[in-house]
Amino acid sequence: MLPKDLIDKYQDWKENIFSKEKEYFEKLAKEGQSPKYIIISCVDSRVDPNTIFRSKAGEMLVHRNIANIVPPYNHLREHSGTIAAIEFGVTALNIKNIVIVGHSGCGGIKNGYQMCKDGAFDDNSSISNWLSLIKPSYHKIKDASDTENISQLEKISIASSLENLRNYPFIKSSINSEAIKLYGVWNDIGTGSLESYNTEKKEFEKI
Ligand SMILES: [Zn+2]
Repeated sequence: MLPKDLIDKYQDWKENIFSKEKEYFEKLAKEGQSPKYIIISCVDSRVDPNTIFRSKAGEMLVHRNIANIVPPYNHLREHSGTIAAIEFGVTALNIKNIVIVGHSGCGGIKNGYQMCKDGAFDDNSSISNWLSLIKPSYHKIKDASDTENISQLEKISIASSLENLRNYPFIKSSINSEAIKLYGVWNDIGTGSLESYNTEKKEFEKI
């Protein structure tokens, strides 16, 4: 049996939200999904793209992983879960907008930073293996205090992920014709502010 708090929350949703939008859900069930955005977000429970962007079911294809990393394209080998989700969104659902959502105080980035700094990656740890993806971003840090470096890395990693996305074969061809648009944002959890990456200036700007 599910924990009681989950049952209560579900029943509240069913009675107060689903019941009011029953026709909308019936339409989704009948016609299938056609989300406008692919969102790549961290698994961190404090960051919820559906809440920040106030989206309804069917509007955003959300894929979450530790530290919202988009790995370099490597078909059918490592890290294929994230790559497959993006490929599905682009090629099967024809989604034209991809948004990477990073955030302040990211534990994944902090751990990855420490592993890079100490040169201490563990081949037997899935987390370590995954976080080794941020090595190229780590080398772009302009060295300051650890706290500032980690904060920099949260944003550099978003820019690196956008760069990786640009090299995905099924995105590359579309980007040249400007059919697919890529965005990177960074959410400050404590203040609720959102910064958007300006690819020309190569900096984040507050929205
Ligand atoms: Zn995180």
